[in-house]
Amino acid sequence: MDDLAHTDPEIFAVIERERQRQLHKLELIASENFVSAAVLEAQGSILTHKYAEGYPGRRFYGGCEYVDTAENLALSRVKELFGAPYANVQPHSGTQANMAIYFSYLQFGDTIMGMDLAHGGHLSHGAAVNFSGRMFKAVTYGVDRHSEQVDFDAVHELALRHRPKMIIAGASAYPRAMNFARFAEIAREVEAYLLVDMAHIAGLIAVGLHPDPVPVADFVTSTTHKTLRGPRGGLILAQEKYGKALDSQIFPGMQGGPLMHIIAAKAVAFKEALAPKFKRYQEQIISNARTLAREFLKRGYRLVAGGTDTHMILVDLAATGLTGRDAEKALDQAGITVNKNAIPFDSRPPTITSGIRVGTPALTTRGMKEKEMAIVADFMHQALSNPKDTALLSRLESQVREFTEQYPLFAEEWQIG
Ligand code: PLP
Repeated sequence: MDDLAHTDPEIFAVIERERQRQLHKLELIASENFVSAAVLEAQGSILTHKYAEGYPGRRFYGGCEYVDTAENLALSRVKELFGAPYANVQPHSGTQANMAIYFSYLQFGDTIMGMDLAHGGHLSHGAAVNFSGRMFKAVTYGVDRHSEQVDFDAVHELALRHRPKMIIAGASAYPRAMNFARFAEIAREVEAYLLVDMAHIAGLIAVGLHPDPVPVADFVTSTTHKTLRGPRGGLILAQEKYGKALDSQIFPGMQGGPLMHIIAAKAVAFKEALAPKFKRYQEQIISNARTLAREFLKRGYRLVAGGTDTHMILVDLAATGLTGRDAEKALDQAGITVNKNAIPFDSRPPTITSGIRVGTPALTTRGMKEKEMAIVADFMHQALSNPKDTALLSRLESQVREFTEQYPLFAEEWQIG
């Protein structure tokens, strides 16, 4: 990045410091990942120059013949990856993908039913502070107090009582597999649309390691940057009959020019996801999460829903007396990055919380396996047991720094081609 260093040393320094942070800290934020150099190259390419309002073969700008090929490749690959009849790869983010579904098939004021933010749902599923909660009447469902998994009796009962126009399944902080078929049965019974937001688990679904929403949902949305390991962005999948309305809602309804450099990078990520190695990568993500779960249970921590079927665990720290906020801070001082997270029925406010969310996609990309997860759990336990011992936290930080030296951000074993 010689040119950047010369033109804008301040921004160059930011990127360099952030690169060092990513290299030398243990990244356990469940929604983050590291992309391949190939994805990064496409994302940083001259395709950023091109305006291409519209869709391949029907653009509102000239000179789109090459970017058309990029978007067509992204579309055909993502449809193959998920077995979906229709796809749109233009949403700039996961939230905008959800917005496009709502704006296409709902009227303002209609009732939507999504998972409570406090139980693991996402802002864009009807939270009061989000457009989805302001423009629509949001009813929320949660998890059962005992199992801490979706309470389908309550979902059924709420759906019968409120008759939502759309049910939204999917979550940001839910460690167990979701039964999308059961959601679909309930949606059909009350004649609601079913939207599955698979943002967190898209990579697992792509390789058949999580129940598949595509055959049972009307609409499926996702981000492309979590387990799917692509550039930051969104996508929509649906049955063919919904395609025309969704296309025109994304453009011209909500967005202007698509980000062609991001769409090209999405195409690269989908190609990587279609390669046989991607299944091994996803298996390793789950195995790493299970190993972390076992290591935490062994050390006496309580895990929400007892463990994991996915890429994440939610650690309930209530019994330790440590808040999620303080845990996040202590871990950060030790070179370990997680986020504080509410646990179901949390007695603390969302700015403090009683839990932390821990995810394995990023460390798995670095090539870490079960053996490394045991070491990571040990680092974490030491920090969580001594959150005020700054000398120990600083020693841990050095150990973490040394430990991470052995792992590039993107392990060679996951590279294709
Ligand atoms: N949906 C779910 C389930 C998510 O977890 C997230 C982000 O974490 C999103 C949507 C939103 O994606 P974005 O941040 O791209 O708007």
